[in-house]
Amino acid sequence: MNDEMKIKFWGVRGSYPTPGAGTIKYGGNTSCVEIRAGERTIILDAGTGIIPLGRELAKRAAQEKRPIEVLLLFSHLHHDHTQGFPFFVPAYIPNARLHIFGPGGTPETVKHVLEHNQSAETFPLSLREMASSKNIESVRESQVIVWDEDGVHFAELGSRLSPDAVVIRIHKSYAHPGGVYIYRITWRDKSVVYATDTEGYVGMDRRLVAFARDADVLIHDAQYSEEHYRGSMVGFPSTQGYGHSTAIMASEVAASAETSELILFHHDPAYTDDMVAAQESSAQKLFPDSRAAYEGMEIKLTISRHCEEGALPDEAISLNVTGIASGTPALAGGAREVQVRPRNDGSL
Ligand SMILES: [Zn+2]
Ligand SMILES: [Zn+2]
Repeated sequence: MNDEMKIKFWGVRGSYPTPGAGTIKYGGNTSCVEIRAGERTIILDAGTGIIPLGRELAKRAAQEKRPIEVLLLFSHLHHDHTQGFPFFVPAYIPNARLHIFGPGGTPETVKHVLEHNQSAETFPLSLREMASSKNIESVRESQVIVWDEDGVHFAELGSRLSPDAVVIRIHKSYAHPGGVYIYRITWRDKSVVYATDTEGYVGMDRRLVAFARDADVLIHDAQYSEEHYRGSMVGFPSTQGYGHSTAIMASEVAASAETSELILFHHDPAYTDDMVAAQESSAQKLFPDSRAAYEGMEIKLTISRHCEEGALPDEAISLNVTGIASGTPALAGGAREVQVRPRNDGSL
């Protein structure tokens, strides 16, 4: 059995793509991260980084002689997180299956935005003309997405999780214009938290710290330097309130949540490689296990032996701010019961 969870960065830039000599080291594509949990592929956001990823997935499927099936999660629907989707090759392949989730006021919101991005005035091909089968849904923070032997579905009251299930929990952050979803993807005993497009609070975002607690990898927005954020960088106005963090804010969250590693993400498009490297250095002063994401960066998390034997650790389904109960005793065969509780903070 495959015993690694793999993370690969295909686009690490915020706002707009920035090709050119100044961005060769870290790359210029907008947000897209691939997570492979055994045979399953989860994609975080569809910035322009999803374009080369799509070609790679098509090649991989041809080599392995099996159809593409991916789960695509949108953090939110700003264009730097959706603009690559019309060029995502698997979406045009008839036997490919795409499970697409993201935030929105109605169950149809994500679909409407993707349709609008490919309306006759804006793109030559409509969403419907993309031949893959697509399930597109807006999800609520209280929902838990599960990908297991039965396919992709939501965890339901009293449902059981198999030890091999990929479990995706959602934290809705209000620290970005329009709000943003932060995802925690857990497979066996490993967890990755994807927290892009979020601004740090004074004294930190305590709900985010709780959500990211003990994650193996925290991918966190770190668009700005302190000087830029505060408006003391020549030629750049203050960006306070724009919905993005500094490297210091990101490292404070990582330190407080005691994550194993911090990956700085969503680099400002105006920053050269040297400026991004400086961001990395400033984060490392507070949280030594910090690195700036770059295109092509890969992280491999080795699954521990006891999980392979079927015992599901508490962490895999521990319920935190999203509302699933932790500490449920192990069931026969390593499965556990999941209880979904209503949220108590009033959010949808
Ligand atoms: Zn963004
Ligand atoms: Zn945004």
